[in-house]
Amino acid sequence: CYILAVETSCDETAVAVVKDGREVLSNLISSQIETHKAFGGVVPEVASRKHVESITYMLEEAVEKSGITHDQLSAVAVTQGPGLVGALLVGIVAAKTLAMAWDKPLIGTHHIAGHIYANRLVQEIEYPSLALVVSGGHTELVLLEAEGQFKVIGATRDDAVGEAYDKVARALGFPYPGGPHVDKMALESEEAVQLPRVWLEPDSYDFSLSGLKSAVLNVVNQTSMRGENLNKGAVARGFQESVIEVLVEKAVRAMREFGCRQLLLCGGVAANRGLRAALKERCERENLPLLIPPHHYCTDNAAMIGAAAYLKWKQSEFTDLDMKAEPGLSLEGWSLEKQRYK
Ligand code: ATP
Ligand code: MG
Ligand code: FE
Repeated sequence: CYILAVETSCDETAVAVVKDGREVLSNLISSQIETHKAFGGVVPEVASRKHVESITYMLEEAVEKSGITHDQLSAVAVTQGPGLVGALLVGIVAAKTLAMAWDKPLIGTHHIAGHIYANRLVQEIEYPSLALVVSGGHTELVLLEAEGQFKVIGATRDDAVGEAYDKVARALGFPYPGGPHVDKMALESEEAVQLPRVWLEPDSYDFSLSGLKSAVLNVVNQTSMRGENLNKGAVARGFQESVIEVLVEKAVRAMREFGCRQLLLCGGVAANRGLRAALKERCERENLPLLIPPHHYCTDNAAMIGAAAYLKWKQSEFTDLDMKAEPGLSLEGWSLEKQRYK
């Protein structure tokens, strides 16, 4: 099975050809970060326009680099949601056009299912599995009792982890996207500002980041009002420690409660070195298998969309050509129809 996969949900234009949901034959990414940096964040209209500029050429190149011809393709997959509606549309129109012109089935794919199944590009997944999804727009614990069966057991009630990182970074004066800067500062600092841990109800797997973010902003503002120098490293480290402690603790508790055989770390914040190290250390200590994809499969890419779409291809669950972009597409609803959760 050869799937041509397209991803344009946010600020990365990406196209890939993936064999059997595991083997990446080509994987092209064109990031718009430099363009959006000037605005301090992603500007939706600009993102759509940029996708239009690069998509056609990238589709050609991805097929060419894959070493197969388009008539060998089994299906065309594209991110249907969640994401920015105008950005999603560009990929969807391109994918529909090719599916129609080449007479291939179309597979509308869930972006977060993609982030999760990026793990299958590295290693076979064993069920039940638990995915810790930490990205720019999502913070979720997802239980996979079987292949393609997604159950969200916990989610953020306000900001996503990546979003909180970017806001804290901005308060500390770092350019967008600030996550990596905060990560670096945190690791280099000897000191840490004491900040709250937000656990919510004792049995809850939900998260809340906005209080922590406000606590950081308070420290920054009060320091500046007192005319003192801000110890940015100590703030970054305090913030990072608070975020990581809660993520690790809840993930490990869920692993135990649901008897999961693997913990899958997914999403752009999986690049965070502090989080990786803390999870590795804890999982080794408790004998819990942990999977972390390489960095280029953690941030937005199309190979992960090909990996997730493969699940649907195996069950012949295709999408109609009149498919629409779904900015709020549900992950649980995207589960395979076979044995779908009630
Ligand atoms: P979503 O997948 O929820 O739609 P997204 O695709 O925009 O959101 P990703 O591309 O998966 O998100 O991740 C981007 C986010 O990851 C940004 O918020 C960025 O700051 C954050 N990030 C990247 N590297 C690091 C790091 N080392 N530490 C912390 N955060 C990081
Ligand atoms: Mg992105
Ligand atoms: Fe993403």
